[in-house]
Formats: sequence, C-alpha cells, structure tokens
Amino acid sequence: PFTTLPSLISLHARERADHPALVQDARVVTYRELDKLVDQVAATLQRDGVRPGESVAICSANSIPYAVLFLGALRAGVIVAPLAPSSTPESLLTMLKDSAAKLFFVDQSSDQALAGVKERIEIPLFTLDDSRPAQGFSGWLSEGAPAPVQIQPEQSFNVIYSSGTTGEPKGIVQSHGMRWSHIQRGIVFGYGPDCVTLISTPLYSNTTLVSFLPTLGLGGTVVLMAKFDAAKYLKLAAEHRVTHTMLVPVQYQRIMAREDFGSYDLSSFVMKFSTSAPFHAELKADILARWPGGLIEFYGMTEGGGSCMLAAHQFPDKLGTVGKPLENHDMRVIDEDGNELAHGEIGEVVGHSPAMMTGYLNKPEKTREAEWYDSDGKRFIRTGDVGRFDEDGFLTLMDRRKDMIISGGFNIYPSDLEAELRQHPDLLEVTVIGVQSRSWGETPVGYAVLKPGANTAAEDILDWFNQRVGKTQRLNRMILTDELPRSAIGKVLKRELRDRFQAEFG
Ligand code: ATP
Ligand code: MG
Repeated sequence: PFTTLPSLISLHARERADHPALVQDARVVTYRELDKLVDQVAATLQRDGVRPGESVAICSANSIPYAVLFLGALRAGVIVAPLAPSSTPESLLTMLKDSAAKLFFVDQSSDQALAGVKERIEIPLFTLDDSRPAQGFSGWLSEGAPAPVQIQPEQSFNVIYSSGTTGEPKGIVQSHGMRWSHIQRGIVFGYGPDCVTLISTPLYSNTTLVSFLPTLGLGGTVVLMAKFDAAKYLKLAAEHRVTHTMLVPVQYQRIMAREDFGSYDLSSFVMKFSTSAPFHAELKADILARWPGGLIEFYGMTEGGGSCMLAAHQFPDKLGTVGKPLENHDMRVIDEDGNELAHGEIGEVVGHSPAMMTGYLNKPEKTREAEWYDSDGKRFIRTGDVGRFDEDGFLTLMDRRKDMIISGGFNIYPSDLEAELRQHPDLLEVTVIGVQSRSWGETPVGYAVLKPGANTAAEDILDWFNQRVGKTQRLNRMILTDELPRSAIGKVLKRELRDRFQAEFG
C-alpha cells in the first residue's frame, strides 16, 4: 500500500528513535531529531503561507539542513525544486521562475550562480549555512508541529531540472507515487534499517535521490559529503562501515586510481551503484576484482522513460552493456524516421515505464518532441541515446545522437574510438568529439588527460592511434588537456568541448 516518505520518517522515529538518520562530519541526526526538524520545517512553511502543491527552491551543496528542508517541505505537501549550484545566473533565474518557487534557500556554493542576479529574485531568500545568520535557516524555523496534510500518490514530490548536458534544462516532475516505487525497489537492493549509504553526488540530481530516498524510507543511515574527494570518500567509507553507495563513473575511476586504495577496509560494502554516464567495461572489471560487494549499473533518464540494469557481479561477460530493462519497463529501438527497428539493429532507444513523467514542466512542445508511440498507441520517451540489444536482451549503448559523427557519409561512433584510445597506457581520461570539416562534413578529434607522471606528446598518441584503426576512424587531431569539462554530476560536456575547439581552431 502507498505511503509517503515523511510518514515513514515518523514511523522510524517511533520504532528506532536513536538510530542515526543523517550524518555529516561530526554531526549526527537521529530519526527522533529528524522527525522533529521535519515537523518544524513543515510548520514554518505553513506559517509563511506556502500551500500544498506550491513549491520551494533549494540551491546548495549537500548538507543536513538541505536534507531536513527537503523532507520538511514534503511533509507540508510542498514541492521541492532542487537546483544546481553550478547553474549559470540566467538559467538559475529561468528555473526559479519555471518552478514558481515561493521561497528560495541557498548556501555559499551558489554565490557564483547568484552573482549579479540577486536583485532580480523576487521571492524571499534564506541561507542554509550560518555564513549570514541574519537571514539564516535556523532563525527562520519556528517550533511546533504542522497541521497534518494528506498526500496522494499522484501529487508532485519534486521538480528536477534535467542535467542540461545537451541543451537547456527542462523541468521534470516526479510524484509521491513514483518515489514510493523507488523506495520499495530499494528493498531488493538490500537497503534497509542496517544500511549505511555514503552520498557524495549532489542532492539536486535524480541519480542521488534514487539512493538517498530508499535509505531514509527504509530506516537506514545516510552519510553526506558536501563535495566529492576520492581520499575523503575512502576514509569515510571505512570509518562508517558503509554498505551502499551511488557513484558516477568518473568518481569510481578516481577512487580506483588511488595508490592507497588497498589500504582501506571496504569489507562492509553490500552494493554499489552507478548511473549517469558511460561506465566502461575495464573499470567495472577492476571494481569487481578489488572492491568487495556487488556492483549495479543503471541506465535511465530523469524523465523516467524506462531503465536498464546490469548486475555486473552476476554477468561478468556482459560488462560492455548496460544490462536489461527492469521489470515492467519496455525499451525499444527506432530509426531516424521513428520506425521501430527489429531486435539487434542500431537506433535511438525509447523507453516506457510505470514511473514516466507526464511531461516537461511548462514545455508542451518539448514534451511532444520527446514522445514516441508504438503502433498500439503505447507511449514511450525518446532517450536521445543510440544503442542496440544483443541476442540475450542486453543493451549496448553507443553515443548520444547529438554526439554522433557523420564523416564523409560514414557514421562514426565516438564511443568506439574512445574505447580504442583508452587502450593507450598513458591516458587517464579520454573523449572524442566531432568537429566541422570542409572536406568531410565532420571529423573526429580526440581529447585526453595524461596519467600522473606521463609526458607523452599528443602527436605520438595520434600516430599510435591512427595506426590501430581503419581509415575512416582516424582522428584528425589529438589534444591533451589537464581536465575534461564535466557537469557537476560528472558527465563529459561534449557540447562545451566542441565550442572550445571551434574557438581555438575553427
Ligand atoms: P539533458 O537531457 O538536459 O541533455 P541529460 O540527458 O544528461 O541532460 P539526465 O536525465 O540526468 O540528463 O541523464 C540521462 C542520460 O544520461 C541518458 O540519456 C544517457 O545519455 C546518460 N546515461 C545515463 N545512464 C547511463 C549509463 N549507465 N551509461 C551511459 N550513459 C548513461
Ligand atoms: Mg536527457
């Protein structure tokens, strides 16, 4: 039967009052304390006239006040719009307006996003950290309990803005019913009262919430990190006997690359998760070999249009795939014209799930563009990703459609070239983009970060690479850089690299 996250928190507060719910640095909040704080937030929102179905926005690094505010808003039936501190000032304003937030909570990490646009924010602004106590969160909170609010499964829980990896951010609404299904699914993955989940990805991302919400919903402990750092991550994981975690591939890579990795006791791990970006087979194999516990990769989108799952520890011969669709999720492949392709053909992946968004917030046009219907009228969401299913039903992803390269009439998959480039012993991170070319239309260019201590020249890598691949796949140029541009959730921003290339060499 349906229940809400805030009522589960009350339940845990009754049944296991002294169990830690949230931990950050030296601060521990038990379920009893959490329940009380959540009550206070809900009561204060009611006092300030924020009504069920209205929203509040948060733009902050992970913190205990952030988590408390999020849960308190839910208890009042108020929708949470968690925004990325890495947003540009203009997109921050757009998102605030789009979400129709009544109040706005920030911390120091959003200073840059707020710079210059603060005066244009027309709703009350509060700080979650105590840096500016005059308008602080703790001063805003009032004592007491809220008037009870009934919450139905179809009511909105949060609005999340898609990463904007490929374009402008689009608001995606998740309902309490969808979140309840995420919490229930958590049981299968071993989330429960004894789990300790280490969270180092930002709370504004769906990637994080699908592990944060089941942990609290099922009475476990969340250990929060404000900012990812591989050494600190390992220290916390060992110290708190962490059982569950969600990391994005680049974080796994940074952790595995540490020379002292073997010196941490990670034997408490039950299950590790990954999602958001390509997770290459060698890295998965390395984790399976050296890091205790299972490893599960999800492939999906904030829009909820179907997800695939690979339990890597169970399918060591399928590490190059993102696994199979979850139960009740239907995923298919279509061509450029929207015709469904036969099993095994390469095309754009579309997905249907019981937890699909109804549409982008205030963007009916974008919603229509994202939809696809099969011949029976069943609704799917287009992922924008190109892939193919193998004979066992496992999905291999190539690239985002927008990142594919068409060179001299040939389709080139950057992911193929990246896999080849990764074989170079001196390279830590690699990516391949398509840039404009007078002769070919587009041509592939490689970017890479060298391993610490390596000093190979870009020219040598280019020669090495071009001798290994067929004529059509040769790189036009190889560029070494200190860092690849990434979104806050660790996705390589190819759009930004293409602009950078254009500015430098175009
Ligand atoms: P936008 O839609 O605004 O451009 P986004 O697509 O990055 O941003 P999300 O919904 O956060 O926003 O991410 C979903 C996308 O992330 C997928 O479409 C896919 O490209 C990528 N992705 C997710 N999981 C995986 C995975 N396991 N392997 C490879 N790519 C993945
Ligand atoms: Mg997307």
